[in-house]
Amino acid sequence: MGVLNSIFENIYIVFMAVDNKGIARIGSFLGSRFKRDLPLAPLTTFGIGGPADFFAWVNTKEELLAVAEATGAMGLSLTILGFGSNVLIADKGIRGFVIKLEGEFASLVFRGNGFLEAGAAARMPKMVTELADRGFAGMEPLVGVPGTVGGGIWMNAGTREGEIKDYLDGVEIFSIKEAAFRKLNRWDLSFKYRESSLQKTSDIITAGFFKFPIAINKEEVLNKIKALMRRRRQGQPVDSHNVGSVFKNPTGDFAARLIEAAGLKGTRMGEAVVSDLHANFIINQGRATAADVIALIKKIQESVKARLGVDLRTEVRFLGEF
Ligand SMILES: Cc1cc2nc3c(=O)[nH]c(=O)nc-3n(C[C@H](O)[C@H](O)[C@H](O)COP(=O)(O)OP(=O)(O)OC[C@H]3O[C@@H](n4cnc5c(N)ncnc54)[C@H](O)[C@@H]3O)c2cc1C
Repeated sequence: MGVLNSIFENIYIVFMAVDNKGIARIGSFLGSRFKRDLPLAPLTTFGIGGPADFFAWVNTKEELLAVAEATGAMGLSLTILGFGSNVLIADKGIRGFVIKLEGEFASLVFRGNGFLEAGAAARMPKMVTELADRGFAGMEPLVGVPGTVGGGIWMNAGTREGEIKDYLDGVEIFSIKEAAFRKLNRWDLSFKYRESSLQKTSDIITAGFFKFPIAINKEEVLNKIKALMRRRRQGQPVDSHNVGSVFKNPTGDFAARLIEAAGLKGTRMGEAVVSDLHANFIINQGRATAADVIALIKKIQESVKARLGVDLRTEVRFLGEF
């Protein structure tokens, strides 16, 4: 038994050494862009969530490949975070590796005639305004969506006026399973309201390819952007810690209308509160925990079901150990 124990101990020590070597290798090539136990709350618009075991800001395709290979070899899960504007991260955080794309992934390359190659880490507000300034139309409905292009495609972000899929020609993904980059055409993908077929895969979106029409009247596009932004500021608590709409709109109705009709505006759990301005927004008043938000979500779902007979499904995505 003593011999067996010592064999197992040695095997364990060998695994530990491999683990530490993999992590040390990532640490040595990413330098200060690699962290252990990084608190994730500051990387989200909710300002909620515990730490990632390992975290990296990834600047290049080579780095992404290296991180994916190392985490695969170590048996660690790999989670991607965009701008963190549609996620609730668990209080216990996320086990394994979390990455955020930056550097070459944040580029917007205009190829002429309305063709745009947008890196997954490019910010949506920048894409909307740059397109309008260059005289192209189509992305105005997405003004005020604070996320990244990658997060936007994955979520099929949009409003009643239009969705990101409308002018999408294709994407580049990194397949974690194949450890390879691949291009997918628009017809390889399917989209619905806040859904994309990419949600059924573990693929990481690294770029989106778009084709936008030339604006008939550039001034009109710029004015529409201003008007939509004004409407948002009037109707949404945009300056608070939130993730936009928490629930999806049920067919033919609005989650905000239902939550308000159920008398839930201002309802709170700890420091998580249903907004008085827009009932589909939950606000973190400062020190709300993920547990507070989950409890509030459950209360809203139960009350709306009991009083109005409607099931509300969440739009916000849950990441980590709940
Ligand atoms: C004030 C406010 C207003 C908002 N208004 C709207 C709105 O009008 N319409 C709307 O649709 N949304 C809205 N949102 C929600 C949010 O901005 C969008 O869902 C946005 O598309 C999320 O992008 P993100 O980069 O922040 O993704 P994150 O929140 O970081 O991630 C969301 C999900 O996408 C995955 N993901 C992120 N990047 C990638 C990638 N490159 N490859 C694969 N998976 C990825 C993540 O793992 C996660 O599961 C709003 C949010 C706020 C705070």
